[in-house]
Amino acid sequence: MTSLLRTQAFVNGQWISTDQHFNVYNPATSAVVATVTQADSALTLAAIAAAEQALGPWQQLLPKQRAELLRQWQHLILAHQHELAALMTAEQGKPLAEALGEIEYGASYFDWFTGEAERSYGTLLAQGQEGQKSWYQAQGIGVCAAITPWNFPHAMIARKVAPALAAGCTIVIKPAEATPLSALALAQLAQDAGIPAGVVNILPTADPALVGDILTTHPSVKKLTFTGSTKVGKQLMAQCASTLKKVSMELGGNAPFIVFDDADLELAVQALMQCKFRNAGQTCVSANRVFVDASVQPQFIALLKTELSKLNVGSGLDPSVDYGPLINQAAIDKVSTLVRDAVQQGATLLMGGHSLAEQGPLFYAPTLLTGVMASMRIAQEEIFGPVIAVQSFQDEAEAIQIANAVPVGLAGYFCTENYRRIERVSQQLECGMLGINTGAISHAYNAFGGVKESGIGREGSPLGLAEYQEIKNITIGDL
Ligand code: ADP
Repeated sequence: MTSLLRTQAFVNGQWISTDQHFNVYNPATSAVVATVTQADSALTLAAIAAAEQALGPWQQLLPKQRAELLRQWQHLILAHQHELAALMTAEQGKPLAEALGEIEYGASYFDWFTGEAERSYGTLLAQGQEGQKSWYQAQGIGVCAAITPWNFPHAMIARKVAPALAAGCTIVIKPAEATPLSALALAQLAQDAGIPAGVVNILPTADPALVGDILTTHPSVKKLTFTGSTKVGKQLMAQCASTLKKVSMELGGNAPFIVFDDADLELAVQALMQCKFRNAGQTCVSANRVFVDASVQPQFIALLKTELSKLNVGSGLDPSVDYGPLINQAAIDKVSTLVRDAVQQGATLLMGGHSLAEQGPLFYAPTLLTGVMASMRIAQEEIFGPVIAVQSFQDEAEAIQIANAVPVGLAGYFCTENYRRIERVSQQLECGMLGINTGAISHAYNAFGGVKESGIGREGSPLGLAEYQEIKNITIGDL
């Protein structure tokens, strides 16, 4: 195992144990990868105190000085890309090539946000009163808390820690219980890069509510940035209300993927395969409901079946695999239940629909369902697995109406060669992000986030830094 394997909590620049531990499992083999310290209340309070103490000196550095430290951290992340990827595949299961891609993707946020922070300007305001001059400026919001998911154990942290630190904030991070090792390895590299003690703190735990309750109610924490389910996001937001913390919430989606009759069908299939099978379908921007114009459905399904039959499922360490295991038994149970329910309600199972026991208990076959109806659970809930659930539609208005008829709106996709339709449909789909003739929409330059119950705020893009800043208006009188 890599020299970056760390199993203690990281608080105030120190590796700390408590008397409680939990196991991290390899989802491909069910073997224990590591036994990790479980943060308790005292350690959570210590992490907040450390972040508070480190805040002043960190804020006083010039943006350029913070940028130099963050770039050094990024440099070390990329220099250890292979070790980090191996660790991620061991605890999360995704293919090594995808893990490597995730490290690069995460690292790109450091570049982007250090540049953004160096160019974070204030604004001189029009003079409203004789003898006065006013301007407003942005400044780091203070101590931040981050709660992150297991599906992108590196990138979801990088996407939060890079803008937070670039803006002059310090941070306490609670990684997902399934994947703390990627987070702890990042902390080691932060220390090696010279990020001062207390600026970044990591609290692994398998009891998220214990740590989460403190992070969301402690008055010293000024901001919560969360990526995870809508259910937990709502609960954490309610908890943050007691101290009126600012929140950024990247929550669940139920992405529509619409194939219009004038789409390039081969391109549409490629785009769908790309966004459906990344991370075995366990992404919040994964196509969850596939709508195909009834007039092109036979050709589309034929092309799709050919691509699905090429998929190779197995251990992420095998370079030939397209996707690996699901994260745990609950994920397998959920996917199986949704597929079974759809079939019972009248959907047609064309491929898959079962787990791949010969690979291990957490592998699920590429699955294709047609005849899915909007009322079925599989169309209402996030599948988070390698299942394509196809609904058909008759015209554009119907496709838009069904696509919008859910309470969430994170990503959406559609395929068409008609530029007027691109304009029309783009305006009407209720999503925070749209991919048109592409299934890949995430990078640091783009604004990542959702509308409706998919969240609040944006990560990346010119908007992302402001999530970690507050505006201060300053007026000088007696001039
Ligand atoms: P998923 O279903 O994808 O695991 P969750 O929303 O349950 O999504 O988890 C996302 C993150 O939220 C994880 O880090 C998890 O530990 C954390 N989490 C879950 N429940 C709570 C809670 N009550 N308080 C704080 N964090 C929580």
